[in-house]
Amino acid sequence: MLNYRNTTVSFFFLVLILIVFGAAGIMLFSLVAILYISLLALGSARIQMNFYLKSINRGSPDKAKVALTFDDGPDEKTTSEILNVLEKHQIKAVFFCIGNKIEINKHILKRISDNGHLVGNHSWSHAFLFDFFPPGKMILEIKKTDAIIEKVTGKQVNIFRPPYGVTNPFLSRAIKKTRHTVIGWSLRTLDTTQKSEKVLEKLERQLKNGDIILFHDTQQETVRLLDKAIMVIKNKGLEIVRLDELVTIN
Ligand SMILES: [Zn+2]
Repeated sequence: MLNYRNTTVSFFFLVLILIVFGAAGIMLFSLVAILYISLLALGSARIQMNFYLKSINRGSPDKAKVALTFDDGPDEKTTSEILNVLEKHQIKAVFFCIGNKIEINKHILKRISDNGHLVGNHSWSHAFLFDFFPPGKMILEIKKTDAIIEKVTGKQVNIFRPPYGVTNPFLSRAIKKTRHTVIGWSLRTLDTTQKSEKVLEKLERQLKNGDIILFHDTQQETVRLLDKAIMVIKNKGLEIVRLDELVTIN
């Protein structure tokens, strides 16, 4: 299996063999180092590889079901509008919320939970440098966010989505302590960067059984397209279910 441990052990022995057999020129060493670093970077950027930690990224391909997930809220305006659309269609989703946004929008989080959606932890700060935080600081952020979610909703939080979907050895150590189930995605809609038409085209083209679909409840563009996106999904014969109906969460 291609993961951090196996990769590191394999490269360690590769370097050892090169040294033992005297085949170690500077060019060859540089090549091996570049390959190793590239693999680590790829594993960091692609949560679906399960390179540093185990994550759930999709449901069963045998059932015509998908789940919607919304990141980076709660936002006073856009999250409320997203909730209205979901309510109209009687769809339950997951909201991966940021702690410092919950602090100023507790009433929105309460509505998310009261409407029957799942709430997940998406760190306290969603800081740009979150991936460089030491494990201890990550744990503090995750626990602080758990605490505010539990205080507002009265429910325990057991799912976490890393900011930017980036994983690394620090996060792996933090998650071992906090014991969250890490949730990734199988279909990124790119709703933060693409226009509605492009997002809908992508859904139409790529949607498949078991998909965990990534949206952001902080985008006006997402509010505009959600109604149509739901129709696209339904027209493909897929049922939209809550994440815990699509996958098993420990
Ligand atoms: Zn995010």
